[in-house]
Amino acid sequence: MDREQLRADVRALCERLGGAAYWRALDAQGAYPDAFARAFTEARYLAALIPAGYGGLGLSLGDTSVIVEEINHSGGNAGTAHAQLYTMGTLLRWGSEAQKRAWLPRIASGEVRLQAFGVTEPDAGVDTTSITTSAIRQGDVYVVNGRKRWTSRFAHSDAMLLLARTGPATPEDRGAGLSVFIVDLRAVRPGAIEVTPIPVWMNNETNEIAIRDLEIPAENLIGDEGRGFRYIIDGWNAERILIAAECVGHGRFLVERASAYVTKREIFGKPLGANQSIQFPIARAHAALEAADLVRKDAADRFDRGEPCGPQANMAKLLASEASWQAANAAIDALGGNGFAADYDVERIARETRLYIVAPISNNLVLAFLGNKVLGMPRST
Ligand SMILES: Cc1cc2nc3c(=O)[nH]c(=O)nc-3n(C[C@H](O)[C@H](O)[C@H](O)COP(=O)(O)OP(=O)(O)OC[C@H]3O[C@@H](n4cnc5c(N)ncnc54)[C@H](O)[C@@H]3O)c2cc1C
Repeated sequence: MDREQLRADVRALCERLGGAAYWRALDAQGAYPDAFARAFTEARYLAALIPAGYGGLGLSLGDTSVIVEEINHSGGNAGTAHAQLYTMGTLLRWGSEAQKRAWLPRIASGEVRLQAFGVTEPDAGVDTTSITTSAIRQGDVYVVNGRKRWTSRFAHSDAMLLLARTGPATPEDRGAGLSVFIVDLRAVRPGAIEVTPIPVWMNNETNEIAIRDLEIPAENLIGDEGRGFRYIIDGWNAERILIAAECVGHGRFLVERASAYVTKREIFGKPLGANQSIQFPIARAHAALEAADLVRKDAADRFDRGEPCGPQANMAKLLASEASWQAANAAIDALGGNGFAADYDVERIARETRLYIVAPISNNLVLAFLGNKVLGMPRST
């Protein structure tokens, strides 16, 4: 795949949808990006990581990361895309051939929207291994009871990946006893899942869900029972690399918007950008973004070569999320009052990009990984 052509094609599609103005209008209404999801499904960009044999584009992670980067670079929000892009990864890597044949082509075509990923729970927080939602095998079904919090895009999903406890953890392995299921939300008995939306700072449909005696066919267990936490961890590097690319895209949007603004606007008889106190923070954010982008590219290349890339994926996510937030602050300061005005898109992108310091993995946990696993310091989590 010619990466620069891919970038140009994604950019053109974003522009056809209306660019930043499209996302601004959705943000004002708290609406879901239906037209975006439709257009990106038709172009098969949402199936970028699904192999061609199952109806996807079969792109590398490096190429795929360019798609999400350009969505954000155009003033959009790839949050809708990234879930559909990587949530199916657990199924792809660990599902049986029958499961892959049953689900992947329909996900690739958009017939099945696999957006919801039920991992986090109210009481477990970032300590995923302490989740308590249970799945008890009874004959041909698992019966699930428990609560999930922050289950995003549930109302726009036809299927959900669910992490639940099928057995106890062991002293040697805190992740033991967890299993992953694919839940067909269209087949759920009425009343088995109660959904409570959580209003948040940005336009992101997210929910708390209460699950009561939900029956999942045993054939919907992915891989082996009790190994689900390993399967989820296995997808984390790809997720972190995609999030890093999204942050780079956000950051570039902010830096470009701020640079253009301060070059044009004159105060005290000269362009705002002629003042170093305005210009330097923007230049510094640009440098931070470029550095983060190099680590992201290194991580993606290692991933695509099948090499270990945990440290690089984590560092890319850390550096890119900090750099895009740095760009947001520089842009807000540069635009002054307009930094808070919806018309200029800076406040919206700032809200959206701030999420990535905390979720899907908090930077504290990234640092804990680097401190312990890479540098060998005592474990803190
Ligand atoms: C908008 C949004 C969408 C989300 N979508 C999804 C989704 O679709 N599916 C899903 O499963 N989850 C989702 N999440 C959950 C997200 O991944 C978690 O919010 C995040 O992992 C933090 O969990 P928590 O809020 O329970 O934090 P807590 O566990 O309560 O922790 C609070 C803070 O303390 C820090 N902390 C905790 N322990 C330590 C420690 N030992 N050392 C240092 N710092 C520590 C954490 O990093 C965090 O910043 C979403 C969250 C948000 C906000």
